[in-house]
Amino acid sequence: MCKGQFQSKNPEAFEHLKTKLVVQCDNCSKKILRMPSELKNTKHSFCGHSCKAEFQSKKER
Ligand SMILES: [Zn+2]
Repeated sequence: MCKGQFQSKNPEAFEHLKTKLVVQCDNCSKKILRMPSELKNTKHSFCGHSCKAEFQSKKER
């Protein structure tokens, strides 16, 4: 039996979960997960395209 193999599953499989940060959608304040690298490239984070569009249309006025 190689039970050990089963238990020591691939830790790399969860690596992406550790590196993700919880941020809030700038439009609806919903909690979303973003990669730190994604946050560097953008000032605002949105849970979806509709929130992004809504936020930008508010800003323009
Ligand atoms: Zn949102």
